[in-house]
Amino acid sequence: MKALVAVKRVIDYNVKPRLKSDGSGVDLTNVKMSINPFDEIAVEEAIRLKEAGKVSEVVLVSIGSSKSEETIRTGLAMGADRGILVNTGDPAIEPLAVAKILKSIAESEQVGIVIVGKQAIDDDCNQTGQMLSALLDWPQGTFASVVDIQSADKVLVTREIDGGLQTLELDLPAVVTTDLRLNEPRFASLPNIMKAKKKPVSKVSLADLGLPENFIEPRLIVQKTEAPEVRQAGVKVADAAELIDKLRNEAGVL
Ligand code: AMP
Repeated sequence: MKALVAVKRVIDYNVKPRLKSDGSGVDLTNVKMSINPFDEIAVEEAIRLKEAGKVSEVVLVSIGSSKSEETIRTGLAMGADRGILVNTGDPAIEPLAVAKILKSIAESEQVGIVIVGKQAIDDDCNQTGQMLSALLDWPQGTFASVVDIQSADKVLVTREIDGGLQTLELDLPAVVTTDLRLNEPRFASLPNIMKAKKKPVSKVSLADLGLPENFIEPRLIVQKTEAPEVRQAGVKVADAAELIDKLRNEAGVL
């Protein structure tokens, strides 16, 4: 069975985001971009499933500008087989539109499992996997910490929930979203980075997928973006008596 993995190009998690001066969003000029960390985990999981003989091919898809090809190449260097770049020219595409595009590709590629990140760290939406599952009418295993394909039509997904862990048995094809503890992604070796440059990446437009251009138009309007308040530095107290004094007389909480 084929695995489809969605990989999003996002601002690197080590970068402190800078706002545009008009407050309309995050300024991405000259900012380091990387594969979304949860998607890196998704790629790693799909490759492990292939290495275990449970998956025959790992196909990556990224939706955005032509620069998203770099994101696909990152996953190909880890060991994925090929990529599909859906060039919408607009990096700020919303989850519902992404889910509709992924649905179209999952159906045309006839994949057995779709693995996406639980959330993209730029919009923190945590919606795409769930929407995709609903649109496809396939079962979903979200926030996965274990993905165990039992047969061509069954997968066990262990999920992180508030009270602990829950294991679901899902019929395949299914949609899985990755949590942090699923695995630790491998580093791509230099020879694999070189090999990845030659792996196929097909470029498709919305028209190629039979989708109208206007369907990626945003449904949400960002009214304002503000940086979080700068936190005041804490103070050290010498002993418990001083702490109680400060809580009583300065913070007024006792
Ligand atoms: P979100 O619902 O926006 O938090 O995103 C959840 C997951 O959906 C991400 O971790 C990706 O796997 C996938 N995804 C979202 N947007 C894109 C995109 N533009 N291209 C590829 N995958 C995406």
